Amino acid sequence: MQDNPIKIAISLGANLGNAAETIREAAARLESSGVRHCRLSSLIRTAPVDCAPGTPDFLNAALTGEWSGSPEDLLRLCQDLEVAAGRPRQHGINQSRPLDLDIILFGGTVLRTPELTIPHPRARRRRFVLEPLAEIAPDWCFPEDGMPIKRILKDLKG
Ligand code: ADP
Ligand code: MG
Repeated sequence: MQDNPIKIAISLGANLGNAAETIREAAARLESSGVRHCRLSSLIRTAPVDCAPGTPDFLNAALTGEWSGSPEDLLRLCQDLEVAAGRPRQHGINQSRPLDLDIILFGGTVLRTPELTIPHPRARRRRFVLEPLAEIAPDWCFPEDGMPIKRILKDLKG
């Protein structure tokens, strides 16, 4: 465990089952599993991106908090919660899912390993990630260029 808690941001998405309940439950379980000072954004409904025709709409949200473990510990926690929500551990990319938890930011960490890329590689071009995150952490910055979330979102909309 690290002594200094790191500010982290997680994107939550769901498009199978009771998505709103699953997302709120996941936020509560992140908190009870060691993510301190959790803040959950509003839930927004979004049309699927890069998915097969007929894929149900998603609910998306963002959560910020503080974490005292490693990035890999946090990924494991996220994956355990996905499985607990009914997502198979092995799954195809862009498939419908009862719960998807992606680590967007981990303090100022930039990481590229086979299992984990931080910041999340597609976050900056996804409105469904940035919009809820801008609601609760507009001034948090991406570490590679120091760009604040609200500015990235504005550029994406423009
Ligand atoms: P997506 O979220 O893009 O739909 P998946 O949820 O299927 O994709 O994720 C597949 C893999 O992505 C996970 O097994 C995990 O190891 C990897 N991964 C890499 N970077 C991250 C990250 N920042 N947050 C969550 N998973 C990540
Ligand atoms: Mg994911």
